[in-house]
Amino acid sequence: MTTGKKAPYKIYLEENEIPKQWYNVRADMKNKPAPLLNPATLQPMTVEDLSPVFCKELAEQELNNDDAYITIPDEIYNFYKMYRPSPLVHAEFLEKALDTPAHIYYKFEGNNTSGSHKLNSAIAQAYYAKKQGLKGVTTETGAGQWGTALSMACSFFDLDCKVYMVKVSYEQKPFRREVMRTYGASVTPSPSDTTEIGRKILQEHPGTTGSLGCAISEAVEVAVGTEGYRYVLGSVLNQVLLHQSIIGLETKAALDKIGVKPDIIIGCAGGGSNLGGLISPFVGEKLRGEADYDIIAVEPASCPSLTRGKFVYDFCDTGMVTPIAKMYTLGHDFIPSANHAGGLRYHGMSPVLSQLYADGYMRAISVEQTSVFEAAELFARTEGTLPAPESSHAIRAAIDEALKCKETGEEKTIVFGLTGTGYFDMVAYEKYNNKEMTDYVPTDEDLAKGFASIPDFDLP
Ligand SMILES: *Cc1c(COP(=O)(O)O)cnc(C)c1O
Repeated sequence: MTTGKKAPYKIYLEENEIPKQWYNVRADMKNKPAPLLNPATLQPMTVEDLSPVFCKELAEQELNNDDAYITIPDEIYNFYKMYRPSPLVHAEFLEKALDTPAHIYYKFEGNNTSGSHKLNSAIAQAYYAKKQGLKGVTTETGAGQWGTALSMACSFFDLDCKVYMVKVSYEQKPFRREVMRTYGASVTPSPSDTTEIGRKILQEHPGTTGSLGCAISEAVEVAVGTEGYRYVLGSVLNQVLLHQSIIGLETKAALDKIGVKPDIIIGCAGGGSNLGGLISPFVGEKLRGEADYDIIAVEPASCPSLTRGKFVYDFCDTGMVTPIAKMYTLGHDFIPSANHAGGLRYHGMSPVLSQLYADGYMRAISVEQTSVFEAAELFARTEGTLPAPESSHAIRAAIDEALKCKETGEEKTIVFGLTGTGYFDMVAYEKYNNKEMTDYVPTDEDLAKGFASIPDFDLP
C-alpha cells in the first residue's frame, strides 16, 4: 500500500529518532515461546541457572516474556549513534530492472565495519558484561560477522574476547580473522584441540570442517571454565531478537514517515535474529489484531530448519552442553553441506520465530544457492551494494515476489532486510563467477541422520 507519491531513494531518520527502547514481541504473544529447559531435570531454566553461562541482566532479558519495552542504556545508545539510524532504501533501480509494479524497500544493516546487523546485539551484550565487572567473553562465529561485531564491541568496552571460528570459515576468510585480531580478539579455528569437546569431535569426525553447533560447545566450555568470563551468542536467543528489534522499529518509523505500509516483509533466517528484529513491531501489530502482513522467512535449501525441520526440544549445540530449546531443528548433529552462506548454517531456529511460525504468523521458503547468487549479482549491478550471501537469500525472495506482481499487475509493497555486505565472501562469488557453484539439497536420508540425534526427552 502506498500514498501514490514517489518515495525518496533513501529514507533517513534523524539521530534523535533512533528508538530509545527495544521492543519485546514476547509480551504480545499469546503462545509464549517454550521455556529453555535444563536437560538433566527438564525444569525451566531460571536466572540463577543461566548465570554461570550468561551475565545476569542478559539472563533476565532472556526469560522476560512480560515487558513489551526495555530501555536502551545510554552507553549502548551512544554506540548506536556511530552507525545508526541505518538507511531504508527505496530500490528503484532494482524495480526498474525487474520492470515490476511492486515497490521494493530494503533496510541496510551493512553500514558498519563489521558489515552486518550483528553489531546491534554485540554492543548490548558487551555492555552488560562490562557492567557486571567481567574480564571477558567467549563466543563462536560462523561466517565471521558475529565474531567481528563482538570484537568491535569488546574493544569499545575494553573486554577480552575469545572467538571460536568454524574451521571452514577460518580457512576461507583469513581477512575476517584479521579484522577480529585488529580489534583485539583471539581467534581459534573450531573444532580445536584447546577444549575437551573439540578434541572429542575431532576424534569422531576427523577432517570435519566444523559447524556452529560445535563451535558453541567449545566457547561455552571455555566460558564456564574460566574465572570472570561468560558466553555470548549472536543469534537464536530471545535476548538477541530483543536487541535486533531496533531494525524493525527504525524500519517502521521510516515507513510511517513516508506514509507507506508494507504488504510483504522478507528476511533471511539463520538463527532468526535479523528476521525476528525486522518483523518485531509488525508482527506485534499482527498479534494484537491491528494489521496484517505477509511475513516470509528465507532459508537455504541446504539447511532447511523451518521448512523441513521438526518443532521439538533439542540441544542448541553439538556438544549438548547448552540448555534445550523448543525450536524447529534439523538435529544438533546435523552438519550442512559446505554452502557459502555461513551465517545460515545453524541446525535450529529462534524459539520465538519457531512459535510464531507454528502459530501461522509467518511462512517460510527455502532457496538454492546458485539462484541466490544470481539475485546477488543483479542486486549488486542495479543497487550498487555488494550483498552478503546470507542477505541475498532475502533478495532472491523479494525479486520473486516482485516478479509475481509483474504477472498479476499488483502494486504490492515489499520490504526486506539487507543484513550485510559481501566483501569477505569473494571466494563464494568466485565460485559463482567460475560456474563452479553446486546446489546440494539434503535428501530425506541425510535429514534422518540429523533427526536421529534429537534426544527423546521424556517431557511431562
Ligand atoms: C549472521 C547473519 C545472518 C543470519 O543470522 P540471523 O540470526 O538469522 O539473522 C544473516 N545475514 C548476515 C549478514 C549475517 O551476518
